[in-house]
Amino acid sequence: MKEACGVVGIVAPGRSVAHLCFDALFALQHRGQESAGMATFQNEQITVVKDNGLVSAVFAESTLRALGGALVIGHTRYSTSGSANWTAAQPVYRSAGVSGFALGHNGNLTNTLELAAAAGIEYTSMLSDSDLVAELLAREVDAGLALEKALGVVLGRAEGAFSMVILESDQVHAVRDPYGFRPLCLGRLGPADAPEGWIVASESPALDVVGATFVREIDPGEMVTITKDGVSSLQLLEPALGKQKLCIFEFVYFARPDAYLMGHQVHTTRRRMGELLASQSNVPADIVMGVPDGGVPAAEGYAKASGIPFGYGLVKNRYIGRTFIAPDQNNRNDAVRRKFNPLRENIEGQRLIVVDDSIVRGTTTKALVSMLRDAGAKEVHLRISSPPFAWPCYYGIDTPNRDELLAANHSIEEINDFVGSDTLEYITLENLRASIQLEGECCDACLTGSYPAPIPVTIGAAATRW
Ligand code: SF4
Repeated sequence: MKEACGVVGIVAPGRSVAHLCFDALFALQHRGQESAGMATFQNEQITVVKDNGLVSAVFAESTLRALGGALVIGHTRYSTSGSANWTAAQPVYRSAGVSGFALGHNGNLTNTLELAAAAGIEYTSMLSDSDLVAELLAREVDAGLALEKALGVVLGRAEGAFSMVILESDQVHAVRDPYGFRPLCLGRLGPADAPEGWIVASESPALDVVGATFVREIDPGEMVTITKDGVSSLQLLEPALGKQKLCIFEFVYFARPDAYLMGHQVHTTRRRMGELLASQSNVPADIVMGVPDGGVPAAEGYAKASGIPFGYGLVKNRYIGRTFIAPDQNNRNDAVRRKFNPLRENIEGQRLIVVDDSIVRGTTTKALVSMLRDAGAKEVHLRISSPPFAWPCYYGIDTPNRDELLAANHSIEEINDFVGSDTLEYITLENLRASIQLEGECCDACLTGSYPAPIPVTIGAAATRW
């Protein structure tokens, strides 16, 4: 699975907003490593800088110094819709209205074909859903609507997941879809009685890194507008279902462990997942280890609850970047070897409890189990801190089609045989929900098949990308 994107918006008169945005995007690099971009407003014009690559590769110091002004939006991207080439990097710019506008999007719309058809736009794979929203907004603005009103019209027709930041001349807007699938929070620069600026970002560590104070999360359907004079809020879209549906995998895997989501520190929820996973069964073992990075906090929790010592068994290469395309198991083994190396002296002759966050296709897990056995593990007992992943995501996470999801077509016993572990156990949905301590406020469609928002009509048993 791949994260979708990270978004940032900052208004901070007198500060170098490009440098602040760089730091915030750097803190959100895990949400997208394919491309990065920023849009600033200065001298009556919007400047967009974006390219393929990591944040540090796209923005040299000289580039940041050249980007002046008091307003900025930023984006890190992993493509879940549209092309992965340079033209799909964000922010997306349109010249409509006085100064034009720029837009950054985290999420996935599920009715792009219908939206495009209704507007007479030919929707191709070269066009992303974010491009389509920008085009529809531009048409409304050209027809005379203020951008804020145009956002209400266009996003009111959109279905699916969107946490968006939009820059126009003297203001930055931040909008969250009516379900709140993707996170978005607000922070303040400077003291409460004399704010020096405001920031919105996908995750709270992006606030921490620029010295901002967390204020609150943006509500589902809410639009926050930041100007040099402060922040205002508008319930742009009716919230869905009365409760938000934040992606449960933000807790399991996507968000940084130091992020706060709905009042909970993500690391703490991951530890609790491990504790509850340990309470489900009892298997004798010598050490509990996590698959870095996602499985480590849950492994700590498992060790604490089971009394089995926590240990390290795998070292992860942190500079690996995007996963290599690995069409067969041999190549998958190579890809796993590039990413992980076993700590043989910790593993040899040991009975291991190995905690990981998820099994999707199962090929990576199979290669990992084989690597641990080659390193001398006596037994490998897999424990997974999410329930079986059996349904594709249409809300901004890149997952395989249903026929490629191992749990969609196989029993747990069959999965255990396929990946080569001695035993395999998944956390139950009840225990996952209990770890997060939120009742009915998270999307868990990929675990249950119960999709809170409509999914594309073209998606059937043989699902297709759009
Ligand atoms: S379907 Fe799964 S991955 Fe997608 S938003 Fe829902 S919980 Fe998250």
